[in-house]
Amino acid sequence: MSKVEGGMKLSLKVGLPRALFYQTYHPLWRTFYAALGVETVVSPETNKAILDQGVKCVVDETCLPVKVFFGHAANLSAAGVDYLFVPRMVSVEKKAYICPKFMGLPDMLKASNLKLPPLIMPVINLVKATDLKSILWDCAAPFTGNWSKIKNAWQEAWQEQKRHEENLIEENLIKKTKGALDTSDTADLTILVLGHDYNLHDQYLNMGLLEKLRELGCAALTPAQTSRKERELQLKKFPRSIFWTYGRNLLGSVYSFLQYPERKGVIMLTSFGCGIDSFMGNLIIRRLVEKKIPYLNVIIDEHTGEGGLRTRIEAFVDMIQWRSDYHQNYVSAYGQYLGSTERNA
Ligand code: SF4
Repeated sequence: MSKVEGGMKLSLKVGLPRALFYQTYHPLWRTFYAALGVETVVSPETNKAILDQGVKCVVDETCLPVKVFFGHAANLSAAGVDYLFVPRMVSVEKKAYICPKFMGLPDMLKASNLKLPPLIMPVINLVKATDLKSILWDCAAPFTGNWSKIKNAWQEAWQEQKRHEENLIEENLIKKTKGALDTSDTADLTILVLGHDYNLHDQYLNMGLLEKLRELGCAALTPAQTSRKERELQLKKFPRSIFWTYGRNLLGSVYSFLQYPERKGVIMLTSFGCGIDSFMGNLIIRRLVEKKIPYLNVIIDEHTGEGGLRTRIEAFVDMIQWRSDYHQNYVSAYGQYLGSTERNA
């Protein structure tokens, strides 16, 4: 797709902010636009300048990932993209919703002081069974009206997304066999890092948390590495339905993880100001305490420092390793009341 500027034919560019839902659905959207012959521009990895720019655009109380999203949107707008892709995500499955901040994102952007290109903002609401055809029309409208081309692009994109999700699960299987190949002290230690994709896949926001764990010799897993089917199956153990898709992902992967035979711990990576995490965290911690699984809660905001995080991670891993040593077993690693007469297992 092209436009003419100063007598020159230039291709139209759609900006994809590297934040929030991009971290989950990037294979889908990039492939879709590529198959339509539309160029996409992805903002760079998050850095201090992007975060600072985002912080300036929104009120202080907004959660960190939304601030970062604004920074990426500002970056792409300044780079001169022709459109910004900002879907209004309401729900991506039946009977569960995405966080309300996702729904309001296009409005929040339009109300900001940013100078934005036109937004492409399809409404994605699978609870109300939004017609797929109308979503795709909205995504492709500025570039083509050829339905068969749009449909083919969608099919290609969907296959790519499925391949991406299968690869993540494959990585999990490889990590689970790590203990057999590795003879280090932490070889049999697996840590599930619970968090939203946009925190887990943003190295700047999480300060390389997954890498730090791997440097310490642990296998580090994320919720996306448990299949959707397995998460849904495991969620049946919980007596009520969970209202939020992100909450369902976290709790389903925790139930699945509890079945692993190896030594394990859980780190919850949450953003300051996240309502869903404050609710889900409590439900998850109760399950971990019941099963005596060590956990660590890491809350990040724009002021979090890397040095402090490293110290906490190292202490957490050391604590799990020392649990089997009677002399180091004075303080419960999983939140058990310190005055309890019951000896930690
Ligand atoms: S789920 Fe939490 S972190 Fe994510 S956008 Fe909503 S409030 Fe922010």
